[in-house]
Amino acid sequence: MSGIVAIVGRPNVGKSTFFNRMIQRREAIVDAISGVTRDRHYGKSDWNGKKFSLIDTGGYVKGSEDVFEQQIDRQVELAIDEADAILFMVDAESGITGMDEDVARLLRKVEKPVFLVVNKVDNAKRLEDAVEFYNLGLGDYYPVSSINGSGTGELLDALVEVLPEEEVPEEDLPRFAVVGRPNAGKSSFINALIGEERYIVTDIAGTTRDSIDTRYNRFGFEFNLVDTAGIRRKAKVKEDLEFYSVMRSVRTIEHSDVCLLLVDATRGFDGQVQNIFWLAHRNHKGIVILVNKWDKVEKDTASVKEYTKKIHEVISPFVDVPILFISVLNKQRIFKAIETAVAVYQARSRKIPTRKLNDIMLPIIERNPPPGYKGKYVKIKFCTQLPTPYPQFAFFCNLPQYVKEPYKRFLENKLRKEFDFTGVPMDIFMRKK
Ligand code: GDP
Ligand code: GDP
Repeated sequence: MSGIVAIVGRPNVGKSTFFNRMIQRREAIVDAISGVTRDRHYGKSDWNGKKFSLIDTGGYVKGSEDVFEQQIDRQVELAIDEADAILFMVDAESGITGMDEDVARLLRKVEKPVFLVVNKVDNAKRLEDAVEFYNLGLGDYYPVSSINGSGTGELLDALVEVLPEEEVPEEDLPRFAVVGRPNAGKSSFINALIGEERYIVTDIAGTTRDSIDTRYNRFGFEFNLVDTAGIRRKAKVKEDLEFYSVMRSVRTIEHSDVCLLLVDATRGFDGQVQNIFWLAHRNHKGIVILVNKWDKVEKDTASVKEYTKKIHEVISPFVDVPILFISVLNKQRIFKAIETAVAVYQARSRKIPTRKLNDIMLPIIERNPPPGYKGKYVKIKFCTQLPTPYPQFAFFCNLPQYVKEPYKRFLENKLRKEFDFTGVPMDIFMRKK
């Protein structure tokens, strides 16, 4: 990863319009195809080859200005805590409002880069009007029009300048992140896991500001636990708002290899948990689902099965994910959780030799070839795993454009069956040969 950018500002200045313009079209298409509902306020963008994550903080507190007014301090503070750069958006059409001044006051104290973005500068007249925004005391501003795109290039040039470089992990240890909504038991889990100081091998200050990897040697495994300012300085905000859990999760997730998603069994795998799940999935991180507080659930023999089924319904089609039922309180299956996370880490970095891959996949394809299209015969000739940090497979064929999503899913399922990729998102590409 290289940077998290948060867009802040009062309602209706055009944050989501700007966000949608920035987010890669590709991503929208992928979502449309897989048909899953995901968080629409977090996405990936890039400029001049530099990738960054963009968060529309406004998307999480939709609706009235009153709500915003109550939450503005926290929202901005959290954005300041968790982001590498902040885009403060204001509206040239309406000019400066009291709420803009409130946000500006908070942002003037910030040491992170803040970009004042004057939106709705659709014409020359608005460009002239925009000078009033100097009065916010934030210095220079970037006039843009989110509707027609003007000015966004200059803004992005300046933005990517200040973003951190892509990180290269110093060592090859698995990096685990513990994520989930507030109160799921994350801190208890981490404490149970590492409780005794003697397991800490060393503290490595992350190259990313505010994130610390701590190296552990536990149960015979060595790994780094990604702990961010968010989790460490927990309880500063404990409200159960989606925005908080997402903001807190983003950096941790991006910084990790495998996410241990903690779920409060008594609350279930609800919308917020699903959003965090898809956040990890979209970032191609390994995932282990830990249904915690299992001690609190009335159990009969069917409950594990039923619970699993319910989770499968909402994470479909990506159901090849380990689900463990744990109790941090009783220290039940904590070891198993780490063991599973290690297995997922190994699966994520697994490289199948090309020869072996073809020996197994080509006969399967032979027996179940892709359906013909408009009388044309689609022939897959060979396949290979790409040299990427997570599994991506390219299948070479005469007419790649005719291979549709269901067949790609068929290939993915076969790969999962033949080689163990449990808990690991993968990509299947069709290439012309
Ligand atoms: P948010 O609440 O800050 O996310 O604002 P929205 O993105 O929902 O935009 C609020 C309104 O401003 C919508 O009607 C947009 O169409 C409009 N809007 C957004 N960007 C521009 C722009 O660059 N120019 C003009 N004229 N209108 C815009
Ligand atoms: P966080 O906000 O995700 O870090 O959650 P905490 O670790 O602060 O835990 C929230 C509450 O759940 C605390 O009161 C914990 O004692 C409780 N808790 C955590 N794990 C378990 C568990 O396995 N069983 C039960 N019954 N309670 C738990």
